[in-house]
Amino acid sequence: DHLLAPEALGDERAVEAALRPRSLEEVVGQHRVRDQLGLVLEAARLRERAPDHVLLSGPPGLGKTTLAMIIAHEMGAPLRLTSGPAITHAGDLAAILSGMNEGDVLFIDEIHRMSRPAEEMLYMAMEDFRVDVVIGKGPGATAIPLEIPPFTLVGATTRAGLLPGPLRDRFGFTAQLEFYDASDLDLIVHRSARLLEVSLTPEGAAEIASRSRGTPRIANRLLRRVRDYAQVRADGVVTHEVAERALDLYEVDPLGLDRLDRGVLDALCRRFGGGPVGISTLAVAVGEERETVEEVAEPFLVRLGFLARTPRGRVATPAAWAHLGLSAPEGAPL
Ligand code: ADP
Repeated sequence: DHLLAPEALGDERAVEAALRPRSLEEVVGQHRVRDQLGLVLEAARLRERAPDHVLLSGPPGLGKTTLAMIIAHEMGAPLRLTSGPAITHAGDLAAILSGMNEGDVLFIDEIHRMSRPAEEMLYMAMEDFRVDVVIGKGPGATAIPLEIPPFTLVGATTRAGLLPGPLRDRFGFTAQLEFYDASDLDLIVHRSARLLEVSLTPEGAAEIASRSRGTPRIANRLLRRVRDYAQVRADGVVTHEVAERALDLYEVDPLGLDRLDRGVLDALCRRFGGGPVGISTLAVAVGEERETVEEVAEPFLVRLGFLARTPRGRVATPAAWAHLGLSAPEGAPL
């Protein structure tokens, strides 16, 4: 019942939180990351030390925040959450760090978007557990050293390559989260259905899993939308047919491509003849930020084998043309 209460308030984020695995054991898929991270934590526990700093990279919705929470939970330590864009001044970071206790876990989401001075302060904090707080401006400015108790930083970024080398090098453990395969997503859909008390058939779950874009967050979201459909337009049970009809209604295509993915593919083929085209031009064509196209849509299209990165720009593959129901023109780049 307590799991349903937040949803009764219409708070989808609370539902998402309720569906988060709480321990490494509950995490579905990502076996390599899970094993490696498990070892890092176990060793830290044995030594009674805060674990090394951890960098998690990968597209949104693959479990970076979840893993940060699990790290804190498994270490029995409090978790403090912030994000790169929220840290605009070095002083913001100093304030956070000075409030930390020994062993605390600090999670910085979108760590690649932190301001430069804050980033430099972070280098020192990660390595020496100390920062210099600069008071005043100009010739009269003084740096006051501030000791920070040993803590664990968990940074999340959509792509590790976005981080400057010196910052990346200060993480003792880095993990690249990959898109999930259909069988892992199937397990996630079943697990979430159980927690949300949704009744579904194996075929219904499989249909949701295969249209989830390799992403647990999307699997959970689609499950909730299909459940709505099952309750309003059917008898409440998520069958294959119900899932298919609901997902068609929500314009999630059979491979899981959403509006942005399709928009990018469509622009690439129809407007730019299959490329090569620069990512910025492509972003303008679909009316999106370059970062969103590059960090959200592109990785999935690459993973499906629809888009290839070449030195001259992005190009559509024959599979992309086929998916749009078009035939590749003569002289298409691939
Ligand atoms: P990110 O921080 O990478 O954007 P989150 O950690 O917020 O992603 O995960 C989004 C949702 O997906 C969470 O609510 C969680 O329920 C679910 N999720 C993510 N990874 C897993 C996993 N490995 N197993 C089960 N559920 C997961």
